[in-house]
Amino acid sequence: DDKKMERISELLGDVIVLLRSQAKLKNVDIYLDLDKEQSVFCDRSQIKQVFINLIKNAVEAMKDGGSVFVNGRTKKGSVEIDIVDEGPGIPENILHKLKEPFFTTKKDGTGLGLMISNQIVEKHQGRLEIYRNPEKGSTFRVILPTKQEY
Ligand code: ADP
Ligand code: MG
Repeated sequence: DDKKMERISELLGDVIVLLRSQAKLKNVDIYLDLDKEQSVFCDRSQIKQVFINLIKNAVEAMKDGGSVFVNGRTKKGSVEIDIVDEGPGIPENILHKLKEPFFTTKKDGTGLGLMISNQIVEKHQGRLEIYRNPEKGSTFRVILPTKQEY
């Protein structure tokens, strides 16, 4: 366990540097809208892994390109970061299975990304919520408490 106060915008900046060029090859643009100052008490590399998993899934969902929006909001005692894609969305009948280990709809998928992401977020006393967007695509919402005391 290696938790510190980490700026969400810096942490996501690192993740985006990793993923933006890969996404570009698939005609996917990634947009960030975050509070520059907002920090969270977290294990930086673990929370990075969560966002890598979610943004990769978002990019993989859009076969013909599109946009991924990463939008952060500060709430009382927590932050919410939404990863929003313009893909086909998640069929209602599999929504409850996504966090199960080895559940995948991809030819070369492991089905572990969301399970691991969910575990990491829960270890931070946070939550990973999954929504079908009204128009198209999906939203994966990471909710993290801003500060934890032990
Ligand atoms: P993998 O990416 O290896 O399939 P994950 O645990 O990351 O494993 O995701 C599990 C499944 O959840 C995916 O196979 C896909 O069916 C679904 N999924 C995840 N993210 C999205 C998304 N952004 N849009 C549509 N479906 C998604
Ligand atoms: Mg995945």
